[in-house]
Amino acid sequence: MKHANVLLRILLAVLPMSVFAAEWTTPAEAAHFKTTPDYAQTHAYLERLAAAAPDRIRLVRFGVSPEGRELMLAIAASGGEFTPEAARASGKQILFVQAGIHAGEIEGKDAGLMLLRDLALDEKSGRIGKPKLPHALDHTILLYLPIFNVDGHENSSPYMRINQNGPAEMGFRATAQNLNLNRDYMKADAPEMRAWLKLWSEWLPDLLVDVHTTDGADYQYDLTWYTEDWGPLDPGIKAWQDSALKQRVFAQMEKRGHLVSHYLELKDHRDITKGIENFASGTRFSTGYLALQNRAGLLVETHMLKSYEIRVRATYDLVALILADFEAHPGELRKATTQADGNTIARASQASASLPIVFDLTDKPVKLVIKGVAFTQMRSDVSGDAWVQYDPTKPKTFEVPYWRDFVVRESAALPAAYLVPAGWTDIIDKLRQHGLAFETTTKPVTLQVRTTQISDAHWATAPFEGRLMLDKFTANATTIEQTFAAGSAIVPLDQRAANLVVNLLEPRAPDSLLRWGFFNAAFEQKEYGDARVLEKLARDMLAKDDALKAEFEARLASDKAFAADPRARLEFFYVRSPWYMRQHVGRYPVVGLDTAALATVRAAH
Ligand SMILES: [Zn+2]
Repeated sequence: MKHANVLLRILLAVLPMSVFAAEWTTPAEAAHFKTTPDYAQTHAYLERLAAAAPDRIRLVRFGVSPEGRELMLAIAASGGEFTPEAARASGKQILFVQAGIHAGEIEGKDAGLMLLRDLALDEKSGRIGKPKLPHALDHTILLYLPIFNVDGHENSSPYMRINQNGPAEMGFRATAQNLNLNRDYMKADAPEMRAWLKLWSEWLPDLLVDVHTTDGADYQYDLTWYTEDWGPLDPGIKAWQDSALKQRVFAQMEKRGHLVSHYLELKDHRDITKGIENFASGTRFSTGYLALQNRAGLLVETHMLKSYEIRVRATYDLVALILADFEAHPGELRKATTQADGNTIARASQASASLPIVFDLTDKPVKLVIKGVAFTQMRSDVSGDAWVQYDPTKPKTFEVPYWRDFVVRESAALPAAYLVPAGWTDIIDKLRQHGLAFETTTKPVTLQVRTTQISDAHWATAPFEGRLMLDKFTANATTIEQTFAAGSAIVPLDQRAANLVVNLLEPRAPDSLLRWGFFNAAFEQKEYGDARVLEKLARDMLAKDDALKAEFEARLASDKAFAADPRARLEFFYVRSPWYMRQHVGRYPVVGLDTAALATVRAAH
């Protein structure tokens, strides 16, 4: 197998990829993959291609970056399905490939230009005719996002990715607002991400391929991949990922000379033999987000130490093979995604349904064989630690432990719907940005609701992705009667993206809007009592309540700091009074509605 791969590599290196006329050579091909085109060159090539093959390729804009660049999307379709409506009506499967969410990891863009050409044009004439890949779009519509982080892409330099082997200049990981788009899927702070979410919910693609480049260890693989197989991913979609991607497509990749593996997250970066942990991206990443949307997702990480040409060709081959698999099994994935949506909607009618939201990596590893390379560890007098040096000329196979599986740590009991009070307009906007279905109340309504009181709240001490996250807290749910103003959002769980709703609005979900700090204001006390009036309040409360008196005296005896702090002694009474409690400090504003409350609120508006 190894020799076959070497032979194929040599063949790939000496044979030109295509015989297209020079006018259709892509900029990266023309530069022998030493450089990659900038935004303007990329746009110009795609515009020219769309003009040459208007029945197959259309270039559209779907948003604008903070620095004013248009976000471009190339649509490849054989039957004129260039709108979401036409795509839906055709029943064809939709494949979405995106490049440059991290702009320095840009193989996907150059692979995309080559692939779109090969889907559009006759190889010999360079005109409309029989494309090089003539049947790849018979049952498939391809959406190609060449550069997601466009501002980061133009923020280009030889000094962006120190670990990576070319191209000569690379874009920057973060946007012009210094946000990492691949942590932004849930909070959607970046304008680019909001545009992406709108595009995505309009088209509802069946599969997203998100193309990156690794950092980290050296090994033989050209390309590693990751799918969100754990967590809330529908079993039918997992089964499709297992059979279509892992068994069929990746096997074909090897036949094309590319060794592939699942993503290799080293437990100890100094020693690959210590084992591998499941990458476990989670819902803030593309793949985790798609799992919540009942859609398949494939994270692609080409290996940073392979040449840029090998990385681009591996990406090209992978996408071409996925297109071929879509053609060989038309409708197979659509069946799974439709079923998954149906399963999610049907769950809403079950009594006491729940959804796992927090997971732990198992402590029981399985065995994994890695096609690695020899390495040495030297004592470093600079770091004082081991200095790892790989020798890529010496392939070496390791059998290592792989912590692959997860166990559920926490599940959320599902209400029939959530209610977001009218005043929390940013949260209601967030529901809209994610394309979620909700109803808006038209008059005030009083309901029995499940409310959550948050206590022992601790925030991170440094910002992460521009936000101070609520790291640790205790949540206690109770049922109360509460009145909500007109304009409140009712978010029912009988919708296809209900798992996304739950993960945004359940306090304990790892990327809940509460954790991302959207509700930080709910933890602030806004009214205070003067000492002059608290003196009287304390005396009144002590006179009426012997238990309180005993509690106060015990606290004075046991807590010296408290006893020495006049303000704390008065606050002891204030926080136990209606004056404080009426402020609802730490009450999570979003509530859960059971079926009866949902019926009441629907009848009322
Ligand atoms: Zn990346």
